[in-house]
Amino acid sequence: MSATSVHSNGAGDAAANLENVIVIGSGPAGFTAGLYAARANLNPLLITGNDYGGQVSITYDIENYPGFPESLSGPELVEKMKAQAEKFGTRVEFDYVNEIVVDLHPFVVRTANGAEYRAKSLILCTGARPRYLEIPGEKEYTGKGISYCATCDGFFFRGKDVLVIGGGDSAAEEALFLTRYASRVRILHRRDKFRASKILQDRVFANDKIEVLWNTIPTAIEGEGGKVTAVRTQDTVTGAEGRLETDGVFIFVGHIPNNDLYPGKFDLDEDGHLITDRKLRTNVPGVFAAGEIQDKVFKQVATSVGQGCAAAMSATRFLEDLEAGHRVDLAEDAREFAMARVAA
Ligand code: NAP
Repeated sequence: MSATSVHSNGAGDAAANLENVIVIGSGPAGFTAGLYAARANLNPLLITGNDYGGQVSITYDIENYPGFPESLSGPELVEKMKAQAEKFGTRVEFDYVNEIVVDLHPFVVRTANGAEYRAKSLILCTGARPRYLEIPGEKEYTGKGISYCATCDGFFFRGKDVLVIGGGDSAAEEALFLTRYASRVRILHRRDKFRASKILQDRVFANDKIEVLWNTIPTAIEGEGGKVTAVRTQDTVTGAEGRLETDGVFIFVGHIPNNDLYPGKFDLDEDGHLITDRKLRTNVPGVFAAGEIQDKVFKQVATSVGQGCAAAMSATRFLEDLEAGHRVDLAEDAREFAMARVAA
C-alpha cells in the first residue's frame, strides 16, 4: 500500500466527539503515549482494549525497567503508568476498538461498547499476543493443563511436574517462576543453545529443579479425563520420538502482533507488524504506532516506553502542523517514509 493522503470530511472541531488524539492500547507504549500527549495539552483519549495493561500485566517481576532497582510486578507498573498518564489529563476508557477508518480525516474509531469517535490523529499501541505451537492437542487442552502464562497459572501446579516449551527470555523467566510451585520443571528447546539473556540462562542452569532437554520439539499433547497427561516429542537431530509424562505444559515460543484492525489499511511487514519510520509514523499521515505492534527487534518495557513517548511527540508535531494550516498529505512525509523503508 502506498502512503495515503488524508482528506478532510468537513467535521469541524465543534463536532461532539472529535478528539485530538486517540491512543489505542494500554501497555507501556500506550500509557506513555497518553502521558506525553496529555502533557502537550492534547487531552488524549486512551482506549484500553480487552487485555488491560498488555503483556507486562501478566509479568510477575520486572527487574530491568530503570528506576525500580528493587523490581516491581507488572500490574504495579501498569497502575503507576496509568496513574501518571491520568494525572496529566489522559482519559482512560475501558473499551475495545473493533474498527478504525483511516481513508478520511478526521479518522473514525468505533468500539465494542458502541461508541464512535472522530480523531485528528491516532497512536496504535495494540501490542502482541503469545504464539501457538499449533500441534495436535494444543487447542483441546488449553486451560486444562496448557498455559501461556506462568504468573497466572503457576499456582495451580503446586508439587506437580511441568514442561516449558521455548528457549527465549520468556521461557527462561517463566520456568524460573514455576520452580516456586512445581516439583520439577523441564524445558524443551528445539536447539542446543538458549536465545535467552545470559543472566537468565545462568539462573536456569543453577536451579536444581530445572532440567533442560535440548534439541527437542513437542509434536502432540495428550490428555485423559480433560487434563494433560503427556507430551509426544521428537529429537531435532536424530529424529527419535519420545513421550514425556507431565501434569502441565507452559508454552513460550514467541509472540504475534495484534494487527486485526490493520490489514488492507496499513503497510505491514512479513510477520504482520506495522511498518513505521524513525518518527514512529505509519504510512498513513496522522497515524503513529509504538510498542510491540511495530517492534520486531527489542520488545522490552523500556523500549516500548521510549517508542510511546516518540510517537506522542510526533503526533503533537503533526497536530501543530495541522493547526498551522499545513497540508496534511505532505508529499514529503510520504517520500521520507518510503526512503526510511528502503534504508531499513
Ligand atoms: P523469543 O525471544 O522469540 O523466543 C521464542 C523461543 O521459542 C525461541 O527460543 C524459539 O526457538 C522458540 N520457538 C519458536 N517457535 C517454536 C516452535 N514452533 N517450536 C518450538 N520452539 C519454538 O520470544 P520470547 O521469549 O517470548 O521473548 C520475546 C521478546 O520479549 C524478546 O525480545 C525478549 O528479549 C523479550 N522478553 C524480555 C524479558 C526480560 O527482559 N526479562 C522477558 C520476557 C521477554 P529458537 O531460539 O530456536 O528460535
